[in-house]
Amino acid sequence: MKARATAIAYTLACALLGAPGIAAENGARGTASGESLSAATDIRVGGDDKQTRVVVDLSRKIDIAAFTLADPYRVVVDLPQTTFKLAANAGEQPRGLVKAFRYGLIMQGGSRIVLDTKGPVRLEKAFVLDAAENQPARLVLDLVATDRNSFMRNIALANRPAQAAPARPSEAPAKVDGDVRPLVVIDPGHGGIDNGTKGAGGELEKDIVLAFALTLREKLEASGKYRVAMTRAEDEFIALGERVRFARSRSAALFISIHADALPKREGQAEGATVYTLSENASDVEAARLAETENKADVIAGVDLTAEPDDVANILVDLAQRETKTFSVQFARTVVDELKSAARLHKHPLKSAGFKVLLAPDVPSVLVELGYMSTKDDLKQLTSASWRARTAQALAQAVDIYFTPRVAGAGGRN
Ligand SMILES: [Zn+2]
Repeated sequence: MKARATAIAYTLACALLGAPGIAAENGARGTASGESLSAATDIRVGGDDKQTRVVVDLSRKIDIAAFTLADPYRVVVDLPQTTFKLAANAGEQPRGLVKAFRYGLIMQGGSRIVLDTKGPVRLEKAFVLDAAENQPARLVLDLVATDRNSFMRNIALANRPAQAAPARPSEAPAKVDGDVRPLVVIDPGHGGIDNGTKGAGGELEKDIVLAFALTLREKLEASGKYRVAMTRAEDEFIALGERVRFARSRSAALFISIHADALPKREGQAEGATVYTLSENASDVEAARLAETENKADVIAGVDLTAEPDDVANILVDLAQRETKTFSVQFARTVVDELKSAARLHKHPLKSAGFKVLLAPDVPSVLVELGYMSTKDDLKQLTSASWRARTAQALAQAVDIYFTPRVAGAGGRN
């Protein structure tokens, strides 16, 4: 597990450091602290299935690093933190070799554009032009269709030797001396470049779950019984493995991941909250579909997963030998019991599937889908402050019930 988390962190770091890739001609990447943020005001895609040019209008010239990733085929452009002033549906229409693109914060000080391409492409050019005449500064990418073999060869050639991963600033305090209160880690899903699902009015899952997580933190801290840490407390991207590592490295006593679901239109309607635990085989088709969607977060953000060891099977075996699974299910049941009085529940509120974010073998973990952003009534609740307060209170109550017997009996589990 540790190796897996490290690999993800390393891969992300490499990507952020621009390896493998084409660095822009104007020297080292700068994060130019102190300067005002650059802005992207328009992104245009033009061309056909053989050759496609992407042009991004910028408020000033910046340094970039661009590279390609396989499975699925993507082109990733890293830039200093940038404000995107684009239409809400920018990137949703396919054009030329580009199927879709998205953009946003990937880390403090760094933004990213990820283009999904229709097939393997060669990044022929990636450069930034100075503002000139009546034209703003522009980032230009030229993509040319290629075959998979050449694509994979290019990635291999561009691979550089390992570089140290930058340490993530730690928001959660390590155990303060003498503080034996259990640590609860709250994990708001998605963030930054990864919006999660979207409501009919443009509401974003990443915002809804963050607002909920902040309320839950308030409720838990108010009791004074727990230390509370959040994998993210603002709109930033955190890789799935990093979330698991965050909880493990702090010896968390409980991990609660917060999400909101959505069903594609053709799959009809569903409503209410569902609580998920980890299992090798999904409890039903819908759980399997959801886990697949939620597990795509890293792919969406342009993280290279090819270097990640596939040790999921080992973790599951490991997990089966520990009491973690029992505790996770026990907590999930308690959450369902407590939510009954506060929120609408899905008709089968307790499910399980292979969620990557629940893979810590030593931290009881659940994933709560608060409701369906695709269902009108659910969305109304998800965006309501009183519903949020009531539901967070019920969840905090479930945490209390989960810990109480053990705190009373054996002096706490931690
Ligand atoms: Zn989600």
